[in-house]
Amino acid sequence: VRQKLWTITQKCRLPKLCVLCNQYHKGSFAACTTCIQWLPKLNIPCQQCAYPLPDTHFLTCGHCIKNPPHFDRTYIAYPFVEPLRGLLHQFKYHQALYLTSLLCHLMQQTLTTTPAQCLIPVPLHPKRLRARGYNQAQLLGRTLAKHLNLPFEYKKCRKIINTAPQASLNGMERQKNIQNAFEVTSMPYEHVILIDDLLTTGATANELACTLKNIGVKRVDLWCCARTVLENTKV
Ligand SMILES: [Zn+2]
Ligand SMILES: [Zn+2]
Repeated sequence: VRQKLWTITQKCRLPKLCVLCNQYHKGSFAACTTCIQWLPKLNIPCQQCAYPLPDTHFLTCGHCIKNPPHFDRTYIAYPFVEPLRGLLHQFKYHQALYLTSLLCHLMQQTLTTTPAQCLIPVPLHPKRLRARGYNQAQLLGRTLAKHLNLPFEYKKCRKIINTAPQASLNGMERQKNIQNAFEVTSMPYEHVILIDDLLTTGATANELACTLKNIGVKRVDLWCCARTVLENTKV
């Protein structure tokens, strides 16, 4: 019902309530411009994984130098902290689909054009998809692909193992849990971007990037809305 009401208010351009401050506003997103502006941003993110760096002398963080991930670059503007944390939780677990355009807008703070040839949402296992009713990464990816006028490849990557939810595991366990969980039939592109709502340890993105590179993709980037900044933070 909320989704429907939202569409009606948007179509009529009526002032609506900001999901964060509850004030009326006439912006085009679920949150007002002031609240969007005040969201805490990631300070000097690592080019490869977006982990915050101590200063501008480095481009890459220690984790990426010691254990380089299979993805080449990460685009994320925001840390996974309140109030964005709450919005992402509503979006992912409570069908708050009216947040899609706001979250895409936040993602576009880091990337407005892209040299990549297509967008790929991180897939859910069909069982998980059925239980949740939608794949949040797919919703974001479809909207972004439309904005950027890029192909949206949501069928070629499949999750073939229904892994235990990553949120319940720590870093090492996540890596093991996700191993060989993806299958990619074919990918006719050299440079792709993976889309997800949240980057935590990077284990999922890393495994999918590895699978893609194994079938010949040269460069895999990652584009998410937020990233956790503390190890093992539960979602
Ligand atoms: Zn507001
Ligand atoms: Zn890094």
